[in-house]
Amino acid sequence: MSDLAAKMRAIVGDANVITDDFAAYANDWRKKYFGKPLLVVKPGTAAEVAAVVKLCAETKTSIVPQAGNTGLVGGGVPDESGTEVIISVARMNKVLEVDTINNTMTVEAGCILQTLQETAAEHDRLFPLSLAAEGSCRIGGNISTNAGGVQVLRYGNTRELVMGLQVVLPSGELWDGLRGLRKDNTGYDLKHLFIGAEGTLGIITAAVLKLFPAPRATQTAFIALESPQKALDLLSHMKGALGDRLTAFELISAFGLSLVTKYFPQLKSPLPGDYPWFVLTDIADSRDAAALTEEVEVALGVALEREIILDCAIAKNETEGKRMWELRENMTESQVHEGRSIKHDVSIPISKIAEFISAADAALEAAYPGVRIITFGHVGDGNLHYNIAHPLATHTEPNWVKEWEKVNLIVHDTTAKFNGSISAEHGIGQLKREEIKRYKAPLELAVMRQIKVALDPQNIMNPGKVI
Ligand SMILES: Cc1cc2nc3c(=O)[nH]c(=O)nc-3n(C[C@H](O)[C@H](O)[C@H](O)COP(=O)(O)OP(=O)(O)OC[C@H]3O[C@@H](n4cnc5c(N)ncnc54)[C@H](O)[C@@H]3O)c2cc1C
Repeated sequence: MSDLAAKMRAIVGDANVITDDFAAYANDWRKKYFGKPLLVVKPGTAAEVAAVVKLCAETKTSIVPQAGNTGLVGGGVPDESGTEVIISVARMNKVLEVDTINNTMTVEAGCILQTLQETAAEHDRLFPLSLAAEGSCRIGGNISTNAGGVQVLRYGNTRELVMGLQVVLPSGELWDGLRGLRKDNTGYDLKHLFIGAEGTLGIITAAVLKLFPAPRATQTAFIALESPQKALDLLSHMKGALGDRLTAFELISAFGLSLVTKYFPQLKSPLPGDYPWFVLTDIADSRDAAALTEEVEVALGVALEREIILDCAIAKNETEGKRMWELRENMTESQVHEGRSIKHDVSIPISKIAEFISAADAALEAAYPGVRIITFGHVGDGNLHYNIAHPLATHTEPNWVKEWEKVNLIVHDTTAKFNGSISAEHGIGQLKREEIKRYKAPLELAVMRQIKVALDPQNIMNPGKVI
């Protein structure tokens, strides 16, 4: 056993230092990155995290913070050098306080997202962050990636849900910013540095999260449309009719849906006809369900009359609504079964989404005739997952992956033309670290580097990620 492992064991206990079986920690969910850590250390408290980081700082040992390891850009995966220590916050999974008057919840960084949603519900509150990985991702990872998900439209990204943070800095010092204040103008708001930093500036150990009144009724609808432009017209129409009660608005292409029903045959489209595009939407209200359903029916009826939509299915109960959402939640996984595609997570001004899809589709078809495009995502937030599968006539899966750089250039240059971002919610990690240099202003990158050096002069905190 190495000297470092022995010292780590003295801090966190023998059972919480892993020196050999790294399978659950060293690779990412998509199986794109295969790292080789020196050790995996699993502290149980913030004080233990601080002691472990201090030891790493003293020995100039690189650290990779990890939570649920569901990230999609390789941010939580170590390199292959065998010298990096993964610090997993998974054992730190306690809800420390629920304050129903302040409408806040103070939680440790290793809490599973779904557990936090359930805890809020037990107190008749809503914690609105929701994404398909919610059964395994952990709040420390959600905060560090500034995760988005399906309710950003109404409640915002994770950044908007975090009121306070506790963070271990790369020096091993513990910053306690666990404040549940709605107003606090006392200089730089440090928590925002760590939100979305992907573990490059420190390790988040706990957070104060914002809670909302629990909705009394939620109505889900699955809608068929002619085009992405019609989806934008529908978004505008529904916002006008239902205001901020619109909580989710997801676009799904027919090809994307066909992959879900192919690989999950127990799931059926609520609209089995031959339609090119679909929208899955949720509308939530604090009033009773019957009144909400009536309003949704009227709004969609008007949309049908005005030929904004082609058809729609309104869920008759919660179970039907859940079945509709299972189609959306299995989109990412169904693509894994179809074979590797070249994936994008772009952000575009909402009003330009349809134009972006036309421009990017045309550019890809010109370069790769017969290319298969899986377009879906949080269109209500201007966020598309735009994944490119190989053209069947000319490519196989292995030689398609070699086109990665060329395809990215087409999609991301088109994104830049529309003043968009090449990472809407998944982050940069190692996947887009080089590419970001093409799209971010040199001054912006220089300021990011200055912040990194100021907090982490030894460059031990998740080196090789983001910048
Ligand atoms: C099926 C599926 C669907 C998904 N859908 C969405 C979606 O809709 N929206 C979305 O935004 N993302 C989505 N994701 C991506 C992923 O779930 C999110 O990025 C999630 O927030 C990551 O949380 P995690 O706990 O798994 O973090 P990890 O993967 O463990 O880590 C992610 C990053 O955060 C850092 N980190 C982890 N914990 C800490 C900590 N305590 N302190 C500092 N840094 C830390 C890591 O070093 C890494 O850079 C999806 C992933 C999957 C597999």
